[in-house]
Amino acid sequence: MTRTTINSSQEAIALESKYGAHNYHPLPVVLKEGSGVYLWDVEGKKYYDFLSAYSAVNQGHSHPKITQALIDQAQKLALTSRAFYNDQLGAYEQKITQTFGFDKVLPMNTGAEAVETALKIARRWGYRVKMIPANQAKVIVCANNFHGRTTTIISFSSDPTAQKDFGPYTEGFIQIPYNDIPALAQALESDPHIAAFLVEPIQGEAGVFVPDPSYLAQARALCTKHRVLMIADEVQTGIARTGNLLATCGNCTCVEAHCSGTPEVKPDLLVLGKALSGGMYPVSAVLAQNEVMDVIEPGSHGSTFGGNPIAAAVAVAALEVVEQEQLALKARVLGERFRSSLQRYIDGSKIVRLVRGRGLLNAIVINDHPDGDTAWNICVALSHAGLLAKPTHGNIIRFAPPLVITEEQLDECIDIITRTLSAFEPKS
Ligand SMILES: *Cc1c(COP(=O)(O)O)cnc(C)c1O
Repeated sequence: MTRTTINSSQEAIALESKYGAHNYHPLPVVLKEGSGVYLWDVEGKKYYDFLSAYSAVNQGHSHPKITQALIDQAQKLALTSRAFYNDQLGAYEQKITQTFGFDKVLPMNTGAEAVETALKIARRWGYRVKMIPANQAKVIVCANNFHGRTTTIISFSSDPTAQKDFGPYTEGFIQIPYNDIPALAQALESDPHIAAFLVEPIQGEAGVFVPDPSYLAQARALCTKHRVLMIADEVQTGIARTGNLLATCGNCTCVEAHCSGTPEVKPDLLVLGKALSGGMYPVSAVLAQNEVMDVIEPGSHGSTFGGNPIAAAVAVAALEVVEQEQLALKARVLGERFRSSLQRYIDGSKIVRLVRGRGLLNAIVINDHPDGDTAWNICVALSHAGLLAKPTHGNIIRFAPPLVITEEQLDECIDIITRTLSAFEPKS
């Protein structure tokens, strides 16, 4: 049995390629260390991280406070399973429910698991509270959604790469266009057996699609009218990323007394993951009020690792960092600075079509076919210039740095990005 020590990027890439399933196509960068907004590769080159592990690392890499919480708890107690109580879970449950304004939380590990959990709760509520006839409950979802990779979740994906040849698919989902209130109204009116509407407040993986300002509030009102649960998947948009604690901003504890996001849209089921742990550990959660969460009873759902002491301690620390460092406010202010700087560049650009986003969840659309390789080549060039970003859907590049980035660092990054883009402009 061999245990290889990695000395070069090439070596690491070759090993992963040989021994790992090819379910990702990473940029050719092999990372070894991270701190705050920075990453270092095995050759010692330093980068700005503009992906933040798909917005899991909002609090920055190896945040000292979150790291310490992990170390302290790992040295005491890591895992008991939920067959017993542990001394960390209750305090975490109190913290997360008070932070987001819900009665109860159900702890899981990954985002996909939390989405699955929300779907199960919604279906059960549909049968036990709304009295939908057995096995007839339906959930409305949006086109171009991304909610994870399980068999049920990919059953209602509109991305053939995620779905093809994984059937038979889970039934009971109705797909409508995103940001389309008439389509939602029609779907709700045409079927009395709808349990829930599952929606991302901003579609992140689809390329940072920001809906109309009134979309979520109107969707909320329609769900209430038709007695349908609104499930907000804030796995990517939540935890300060978009300039508010939540993109739906329901009862949010923004750093300002008054919230500048979508006013008071409170979902019935809130799904969180990613930055809930600052990227330190897989921690996800579903939050709901008692009348919804109480359909879950012992034995009906669970997870060996969900709610374990390390996860609980890490998540408390991660949420405290968001508050103490006012990351929502930072994301809001710096996001505006980022988009206006990029917009100035785009006004004179042929290669970039537009910039869009909210807070520090932004994307640019490259003037190329979705099957083209310009965006990929730009990301490779950006990595050479010391900034890591990844294309999504071919011609879109998402820019989502850790929210601990300073104004000075952001300006340096804007400079790297615009200089790199300039090299791709047509010469004439
Ligand atoms: C990343 C993501 C998920 C899935 O989270 P995993 O931890 O990868 O399972 C679900 N929903 C949204 C909106 C996401 O961005």
